[in-house]
Amino acid sequence: MLIFKTVRSIRHWLAAQRAQGRRIGFAPTMGALHAGHLSLLQAACNDGACAVASIFVNPTQFNDPNDLLKYPRTLESDIRMLIEGGCEALFMPEVAEVYPPDFDPGPPLDFGHLSTALEGRFRPGHFDGMATVVRRLLDIVQPDLLYMGLKDFQQQAIVAEMIRRLSLPVVLRPCPTLRETDGLAMSSRNTRLSPSMRAAAPVIFKALQHICEGIRLRHLVELRAEAETLITAAGLRPEYVEICDGHTLQPIEMAPDSDYIVALCAAWAGEVRLIDNLICTHPQM
Ligand code: AMP
Repeated sequence: MLIFKTVRSIRHWLAAQRAQGRRIGFAPTMGALHAGHLSLLQAACNDGACAVASIFVNPTQFNDPNDLLKYPRTLESDIRMLIEGGCEALFMPEVAEVYPPDFDPGPPLDFGHLSTALEGRFRPGHFDGMATVVRRLLDIVQPDLLYMGLKDFQQQAIVAEMIRRLSLPVVLRPCPTLRETDGLAMSSRNTRLSPSMRAAAPVIFKALQHICEGIRLRHLVELRAEAETLITAAGLRPEYVEICDGHTLQPIEMAPDSDYIVALCAAWAGEVRLIDNLICTHPQM
């Protein structure tokens, strides 16, 4: 695996790959890698693309400076995992390389409800920072295929909208959430859980499953309330539990209102904020 730290050097290498007729598959990450991240690269390999990853802890998407400070950094093991995961090139820039003094992010995109709902309510500015860095990374790497996890459902919905609105020449491939055997969604933040919170945290997945199991039979208001009760009873503090249309992220009142229903949750497990979601119904299910 080659490691690039500058825009110039990775662009030069990517141009040579394209000249050989290869397609570029790109998975942006913030490091502290786990099997969920590697599944994105695996998907790129399965598509026959040249798998490229980035590790960049983007300061502009952290609304809480403490969260940025505490974000796990495990570079040595990340590099080992990427090599084993079939990654051909890693882009690992410094902040000044991504945001040089003359960097112009262009006019901010207004994603409306897509970015103000759910996570947007609790992490002001987060999605503006995320969209800016993804746009910048896409501009640098210019991949044919972009791999993002459904674990961050709202993030991939916003990126899909950005690609559509700006007519960016890239195809988004949303990838399924990888979970631990007890159901906890893999996340870089899981390493910060205390042993008791690690034991309790799978309740989030159970609560989302509870919603999806009842979605055709029960009142959604009740299901939401029951999910919150389950999470609270396990000692976590739910920030939101929502049942939304998967396209618009508008809350839905009745299951027949939508053919794409997703249940989404954020909850505090001690000092660690976890998010998860589960697609209950999908037109292709
Ligand atoms: P992050 O490093 O947390 O910014 O995540 C980088 C990419 O990995 C994003 O597209 C995430 O949605 C994706 N990702 C994170 N956790 C998982 C998971 N458990 N399963 C699949 N993809 C994931």
